[in-house]
Amino acid sequence: MINSNSYNQKLKNYKDKIDSSSTNSVVRTRFDSVKDNPDRLLSEKFFLIKDNIAILGEELTCSSEILNGYVSPYSATVISKIEENGGSIIGQTNMDEFAMGSSSTFSQFGPVYNFYNLSKIAGGSSGGSANAVAEGLCDIALGSDTGGSVRQPASLCGIYGLKPTYGRISRYGLVAHASSFDTIGILSNNLEELIDTFSVIAGYDINDSTSINLDVPSLEQLKTIKMPKSVGILSNNFLKNINPEISDAYFSKVNKIKKLGIKVSEIELPYFKYCLPTYYILTMAEASSNLSRFDGVRYGNRQSNQDLNNLYFETRSLGFLNEVKRRIMSGTFILSSGFYDAYFSKACKVRRLIKESYNELFEKYDALLIPTTPSVAHDIDRKKSSPVEAYLADIFTVPANLCGIPALNIPAGFSKEENLPFGLQILSNSFKEETLFSLAHLLKE
Ligand code: GLN
Repeated sequence: MINSNSYNQKLKNYKDKIDSSSTNSVVRTRFDSVKDNPDRLLSEKFFLIKDNIAILGEELTCSSEILNGYVSPYSATVISKIEENGGSIIGQTNMDEFAMGSSSTFSQFGPVYNFYNLSKIAGGSSGGSANAVAEGLCDIALGSDTGGSVRQPASLCGIYGLKPTYGRISRYGLVAHASSFDTIGILSNNLEELIDTFSVIAGYDINDSTSINLDVPSLEQLKTIKMPKSVGILSNNFLKNINPEISDAYFSKVNKIKKLGIKVSEIELPYFKYCLPTYYILTMAEASSNLSRFDGVRYGNRQSNQDLNNLYFETRSLGFLNEVKRRIMSGTFILSSGFYDAYFSKACKVRRLIKESYNELFEKYDALLIPTTPSVAHDIDRKKSSPVEAYLADIFTVPANLCGIPALNIPAGFSKEENLPFGLQILSNSFKEETLFSLAHLLKE
């Protein structure tokens, strides 16, 4: 196929921008592997992909030393679908190692710098993807969201970020972090293009046993703006501890919803204070089990050829950074025979209670509006903070993953002094992504 002029020009434009970028968002490019496939939904759309989603023949490292040089023998289902529909995949993005983190600073490639202010984080773990979109290095990016990793960096970079319903988009070819939470999400500046991409990559996949066999609405249905009847909102009191500029923007969106004639009611977020501990107990347990395959034998760079114990020990000690090690060790403890019932089983039960309460909420409300992040991006070299402090910032994003429901970050403004972007989050019932899209349209500036 001969590339059209506008295609070539767009490709060159992105290449130049990526080459001269100083945000460290893109870790690998593949401009020679793409071609113009005109007259399809994603023709002339350029994609960047988080470095934990497999692309045939490309390196797949999850920003980890342990996978340095590992080349994927197959493509994720989402990749094949994007390519079949005319999309061009031009490179791969930086992230927190194995998608564990909220800052995109835990990476063998070094930190991602926020395009709006290079001394700030871009959020994480899909910080490279979010920042690349904000900076204009691609049209659309894919990320993964296990506990907020698409929505949180989307918020800190001022763009749209969708976490779909669990099972809506195939995970085949996504490197597992916590399998019962992991989803592939979409990041874009442009809501229409995000919806186009969703309509292409959503749907049943026989290669993912947790994929749900349920029809995806047509593109036309996804794009039809339907006024939600009722939206659940949070009280002033509930939001008193977040950045006041974010809560101001929150209440101005609430006013906009009211003006549209949609009924709003104050709600409590169910089991709010139990969500974070439940999330971290379960995801660390799942992660410790998922990452056991990176042992220098089945996967990963082998560091030592001495006896088997040393092989494992050195490979894993040298291959992983500290945050991943911390989670593997915590997860192994949680799953150990003496503590399994006290932590793992209990957290599974609490997760069920949380899920049931959200089900009840969605019997009354079509959507919920909540913050995405309690604050704007912090300094990259913030004085050493404890891991627990970092985990606390996930407070508004983890409920959607605990319940498997879809959630969308929408851009909501900029902080006055530092001019840093932030977003807000819309939640809806499972398989009701179209409700998120409708409300996002209605809340556009
Ligand atoms: N910040 C969360 C964590 O570190 C979310 C990660 C993610 O969604 N991949 O677990």
